[in-house]
Amino acid sequence: MTAPDFPAAPAPLSFGGTPRIYPMRLYGDPVLRRKARPLSPGDTLQVPGFAPQTVREVADTMLETMFEERGVGLAAPQIGLPVRLFVAVEYADDEEEHEGQDKPLRSRVLREYVMLNPVVKALDKKKDRSYQEGCLSIPGIYEDGVPRMRRVSVSYTDLGGQPRTLEAEDYLARVFQHEADHLDGKLFLDHLPAVVTEDHRRELLKIQQASKNFLSHLAHWNSTAHLRENL
Ligand SMILES: [Zn+2]
Repeated sequence: MTAPDFPAAPAPLSFGGTPRIYPMRLYGDPVLRRKARPLSPGDTLQVPGFAPQTVREVADTMLETMFEERGVGLAAPQIGLPVRLFVAVEYADDEEEHEGQDKPLRSRVLREYVMLNPVVKALDKKKDRSYQEGCLSIPGIYEDGVPRMRRVSVSYTDLGGQPRTLEAEDYLARVFQHEADHLDGKLFLDHLPAVVTEDHRRELLKIQQASKNFLSHLAHWNSTAHLRENL
């Protein structure tokens, strides 16, 4: 998820080895619509186009990617990995969106979250619509009025394999719900009337085209991988 004043920048397109940040999967990519599978902290994961990594390495690189893209949360399907993992962050000055824009985001971090197999439950069923929402996979589109539970508990496994539960409200509760949705193939626009998606049709077509370009670039890279290995 992106905060309203954090425009997403396109990630550089290069594959192979261990990446500093991951390229972002965009609206139209089938991986964003799949139900992700559970994972264990000891798993080895392979983000398409890159070398295999531990869950901790993937989570660290996801956090780095999220900071680079000026996001507040990032789910594994958004980097092409259909597993139930997301990262999120609380910034010290979320309320003052116009200040500190030049400071590195990481210096403003209050708390980072890495959640495996998260389960979100309502603590307050009343729906809250009071924040604007965006998504790193749908760059440039922000909408008010996405209904979210105001107060939630999230049960999850941490990187050490410990089961944990925490409570969150307001903006952070919204971030957790947005990221957990990604693990079930759901996007924030799905929660709004179809007319909202229709209103963004032209921008969404552009994003879908960018997604197609990325996927064909990745497919080409994969198809030539055996050539590189034999050099
Ligand atoms: Zn998102």
